[in-house]
Amino acid sequence: MNKIEQLNNWELKEKDGIKYFQLRLELEKLQCIVITSVGGLSFPSENPELLQDNLKQVQRIFGIKQVNILKQTHSDRSYYMPEDFKFNYSLDGDGLYTDKANIFMGVRIADCLPIFLFNQTKKIIGIVHSGWKGTLQEISKKMILNMRARFNLKPIDISFAFGPSIGQCCYEINSDLAHVFSEFTRARNIRNALIEQDNKSYLNLKLINQKILENTGLRNKGIIDLCSFCEKDLLFSSRRKDVNKRNLAIVGYRE
Ligand SMILES: [Zn+2]
Repeated sequence: MNKIEQLNNWELKEKDGIKYFQLRLELEKLQCIVITSVGGLSFPSENPELLQDNLKQVQRIFGIKQVNILKQTHSDRSYYMPEDFKFNYSLDGDGLYTDKANIFMGVRIADCLPIFLFNQTKKIIGIVHSGWKGTLQEISKKMILNMRARFNLKPIDISFAFGPSIGQCCYEINSDLAHVFSEFTRARNIRNALIEQDNKSYLNLKLINQKILENTGLRNKGIIDLCSFCEKDLLFSSRRKDVNKRNLAIVGYRE
């Protein structure tokens, strides 16, 4: 497979020397973006000053008024973002959703999966940070329940898309965790999420999250099939020991 085939409805674009992925959508004002490491922007939690500076750069480059992020603790907590929500890095959580325009929400990633959720008719958007812990806690499913209750949505009214994460090729997990995931996927009728090779277990994080959302009734709008560990020139990877380096995934609706 070449890179274009692996992008699945996403495009690799460039602006001011920054390379980023953007999802093709019917509603162009709704924007799902993943900023790559090309261009030198990183969003580490360990360096709040650099994080704030680079968030400001993103606001300038993309002409965005505000980008809100959370502390990210591999939890199952998500929040509705009201208009007056301010950058609140001290708030524990891994998911944000809103019906407000012109305020973008972001998650920082290096191997974990960024999940975009949206309804193009009602202009409702959300973003989730889901690694293996968030996946086992089904954070995305819990946030969807909250979104459905607040906005009166059916599952079919919500679409999803995934940015890049670590691929099964490079995601070795220990036998205890493999056992947990084996039970988890069997209970949900999800197949081929674990591959055993030379006494090692490899996890397909994307596939599990995709099946969870499809089984919930959501529409799949595009999954970037690139591995953050393999794509050294494009993406950060904590397993590759990119210390204090994170990519940023953002979603927002411009009015
Ligand atoms: Zn890989």
